[in-house]
Amino acid sequence: MQTLAPYAAHAEHTQGRRFVESQPGYRSEFQRDRDRIVHSTAFRRLEYKTQVFVNHEGDLFRTRLTHSIEVAQISRAIARALELNEDLTEAIALAHDLGHTPFGHAGQDALNDCMKEYGGFEHNLQSLRVVDHLEEKYAEFEGLNLTFETREGILKHCSPGKAKELGDVAQRFSKKQQPTLEAQLCNLADEIAYNNHDVDDGLRAQLISLEQLQEVGLFREQYAEVRGLYPNISERRSIHEIVRRMINLLVSDLIRTSLKKLQDAKPQDVNAVRTQAKPLIGFSSEVQAASLELKRFLRANLYQHYRVYRMTKKANQVVCGLFNAFLDDLKLMPSEYVQRAQALEQKNGIDGKARIVSDYIAGMTDRYAITEYNRLFDPRTLT
Ligand code: MG
Repeated sequence: MQTLAPYAAHAEHTQGRRFVESQPGYRSEFQRDRDRIVHSTAFRRLEYKTQVFVNHEGDLFRTRLTHSIEVAQISRAIARALELNEDLTEAIALAHDLGHTPFGHAGQDALNDCMKEYGGFEHNLQSLRVVDHLEEKYAEFEGLNLTFETREGILKHCSPGKAKELGDVAQRFSKKQQPTLEAQLCNLADEIAYNNHDVDDGLRAQLISLEQLQEVGLFREQYAEVRGLYPNISERRSIHEIVRRMINLLVSDLIRTSLKKLQDAKPQDVNAVRTQAKPLIGFSSEVQAASLELKRFLRANLYQHYRVYRMTKKANQVVCGLFNAFLDDLKLMPSEYVQRAQALEQKNGIDGKARIVSDYIAGMTDRYAITEYNRLFDPRTLT
């Protein structure tokens, strides 16, 4: 049994589920959340969704599924070191990207553009929508009926308007409070995971080079150490040795800095964590700056690389093409979506109808979206 600090989220003190259920027999409430997430349809689809690269570009790149597993690994390591709840952390990490559209950032931006007049689209709100409503598996309730703590952890950001709409789970945004420490750390583990794997994947795809990366302090220092220790190793191995050192440095700094903050603030329990003015999980200011430098480098050199940009344009065309076609004629969607769209249109007008169209598109994998686009617009595709 893991020893939990007093300020950890204790499963026995969960704020509960929306629909009351009997307690699990041999698992904690948060283990049950994690298990429900692993068995969900949206989780399986993460295998065919990507972040920067499109799924068919190669089998060696990270997918949303492997990304989520890496976030869970980093989160659990931090949680254990800080005596926080590993089960809760793992549940949040595995669910954090469930609402992502096909084609990564490009798909999200495109769908948000299409939804501008109908309430917008935001992937972390969509992740909550997936676990609260869109998974239809259980006889007695909609969604996965997860605990409050997992749901609030999934909801990383939220505008004041949306917070009002969402009620309890978003209350902290209106009250300016903090989520559990487990949620706070998942957020940063996500950042550690994607910055580092984007370096690795970017190098593999030859969109960025080792020489270019010398301008990033964090990379340069680890590069010098690895080259010094192993002057003759292959490039592939040296990249892995550098990336693992960068992850280790970020994780170690996060643990050290957060322990210090926790020792200073001495929160007695999770409620005292919630009412802190600022998060208690964080990097030191030097490492924060180093991480920001890496982020800026990736934005300028990888995310805006012309080969990525070209794909972004195409993703935009696919997502917007599908959206406009479905909104214009609902009958182009499978009948269950038509029914849902008609029902929500009755309730919320065109915004309701558009929401279901965006649910359908957001649920698509990269390859499904491309196939569907061809089925709709390519006259040679007659199925
Ligand atoms: Mg993520």
